[in-house]
Amino acid sequence: MNAFIATLVTSAFILAGERVVFDGGGHPQFSEKQIRETAAEVRSGFARWAATPNGRRLIARFNGREYAIVIAEDAWEEGAGRAPQPALATLVAANDHAAVKGYVVIINPEFRMTKGRNVFPSSQPATQTDMMAAALAGEMLHVDFYSRGISLPHHGRSDFQREWRAIARELGYPDMKHEDDDERGVRYAGTR
Ligand SMILES: [Zn+2]
Repeated sequence: MNAFIATLVTSAFILAGERVVFDGGGHPQFSEKQIRETAAEVRSGFARWAATPNGRRLIARFNGREYAIVIAEDAWEEGAGRAPQPALATLVAANDHAAVKGYVVIINPEFRMTKGRNVFPSSQPATQTDMMAAALAGEMLHVDFYSRGISLPHHGRSDFQREWRAIARELGYPDMKHEDDDERGVRYAGTR
């Protein structure tokens, strides 16, 4: 192993079956397999999210052996993304640092903004990279809550909405919503 590789920070984000490696600046360095097997927009969206204060904070938080966050793609998802609630044992183990906690974040690389519904074009995702960054940020907020032992529902919580608004501002979309009526499907305002 050369000196450069040895200084890289390895975190517990798993894409295409391999851990995502970050350089010293916090930028993801995707492997050949990850590049081959995942959508370009998912990778660029991940990189964009990773560069936000929220992304940097969560990557630092989930960095290491205690967490395994599998980022999966599914073009059949109804919305832009979903973070299924983990098993009760995982929620209960939130403060057990010896227990490995696994979470899954599903991102739909095919999810598009619907033309004509974009009321605030300057403050909604304009590109697919932006959309994927917002989707990942929203689903990672769920993982953040799960990792604190907080089960669903999340969308109706004032702390969840407050944190989402801060993230949306960081992404540059202060008007973007993250909410739904029943937690089964995410509704991103202006996207349907
Ligand atoms: Zn949600």
